[in-house]
Amino acid sequence: MARCPECAGKMKYIPDTKSMVCNSCGLSLTRHELDSYWKKIKQQNIEDLDQSEQKKARRREWLDWYSKSKEEKESY
Ligand SMILES: [Zn+2]
Repeated sequence: MARCPECAGKMKYIPDTKSMVCNSCGLSLTRHELDSYWKKIKQQNIEDLDQSEQKKARRREWLDWYSKSKEEKESY
């Protein structure tokens, strides 16, 4: 049984849209999106336990953002 990453509500599979829809908050995600969502949450939980790891993650995020914006500039 899939759980909603936002509100922990029960998620129902909708074959028409090939996505999981939350019964409580209506969040709609594909299986792939749901998997990556949970991975992200697990990652965040691990980092919450370790402040220094959290700082590293923030730096990684910033570097990701920085390299992305650089790519955007170069694509002009
Ligand atoms: Zn939900």
